[in-house]
Amino acid sequence: MEILFSNHRDLDHYEKLHPALKEVLAWLHEYLPRSKTSRLIYTSIFRHYKDEIAQGRSGVHGCDPPRAADIVVICTDGKPYEQDEYTNLGILINSVWYYGDGGKHQVAFAAPHGTGLHLHLQVREKGTQKRA
Ligand SMILES: [Zn+2]
Repeated sequence: MEILFSNHRDLDHYEKLHPALKEVLAWLHEYLPRSKTSRLIYTSIFRHYKDEIAQGRSGVHGCDPPRAADIVVICTDGKPYEQDEYTNLGILINSVWYYGDGGKHQVAFAAPHGTGLHLHLQVREKGTQKRA
């Protein structure tokens, strides 16, 4: 499976990701090739905290180390995932990974938000882990 970055800056941030997010992504990199997908594109990792807050967002993309990543998935037939596929992938990820705050937030957020179809992934500063 090919892993790409929309923004070159995100490649640098990818290397510095929060360790728990790296674990989630490593799991995803193992899972996706077995599900008729050929490409994973990181469309956004780091965004400046002040800009995020000014736009009414949570700021999780502006943390240091980065605790969030937005992804787009491309199938082996060349088509990008549709909403229901992001929804299903999000359900799967959240069944495997526990965000860590008693259910208030989740690791994967698939509901339409921001720019275009994508899946938002995030981890908590402490406590995100694989479910037993
Ligand atoms: Zn996001």
